[in-house]
Amino acid sequence: MITPDDIAQRKMQFLFALRSKGVTDTRVLDAMEKIDRGAFVRGLFAERAYEDMPLPIACGQTISQPSVVGLMTQALNVSPRDKVLEVGTGSGYQAAILSLLARRVYTVDRHRRLVREAAEIFRALDLTNITAMTVDGSFGLPEQAPFDRIIVTAAAEDPPGPLLAQLKIGGIMVVPVGQSDAVQSLIKVTRQDSGFDYDELRPVRFVPLLEGLGRDT
Ligand code: SAH
Repeated sequence: MITPDDIAQRKMQFLFALRSKGVTDTRVLDAMEKIDRGAFVRGLFAERAYEDMPLPIACGQTISQPSVVGLMTQALNVSPRDKVLEVGTGSGYQAAILSLLARRVYTVDRHRRLVREAAEIFRALDLTNITAMTVDGSFGLPEQAPFDRIIVTAAAEDPPGPLLAQLKIGGIMVVPVGQSDAVQSLIKVTRQDSGFDYDELRPVRFVPLLEGLGRDT
């Protein structure tokens, strides 16, 4: 049986693993200490929530590896006044972390069931500054644009044009780019007065950004 002491021990190891993989921003680490990843993983895999690995969630999707969540959040450099869009709600874990760092978080997924379940967790945790919606996020969320920050947690072949267009000048977008079945590159896009700067951060592996709404499983 897992005791509360075991859980405390695992959480300490979890934070240690994040630091050793390069998550050093104290605001990000504080947010990841506060948001319990265990609340976002159900069933068989729940007891592996504090390991640094991706895990299966509903609809054939995955909750990302915590160190990748940490590194992406760090690269996004969110400030407390920011309005953030996340494409790829999945379990809701990444959005919950962002909600402690930003003013307002819009998170969208193509699977209705994932959005519904994530929204239930946000309510239970009293994270009132997140709005979760079922839409095809490759078109962004024009009615709430522009955004200070955009994070895409599914791999696109190129940074989607509508998302670039919905980024404020001075804004940052983090997006995994590459073929869906290969290793992708995590790209940080910064919108300048005229044009965009692209930085390649590290290799990552994400599920693909797909078109249209998903059939829930
Ligand atoms: N950020 C999530 C993990 C995301 S997994 C977490 O913290 O748990 C990637 C998610 O992207 C999946 O849930 C998938 O359904 C979603 N996705 C893929 N293509 C999409 C699209 N076009 N629009 C919205 N969501 C999409």
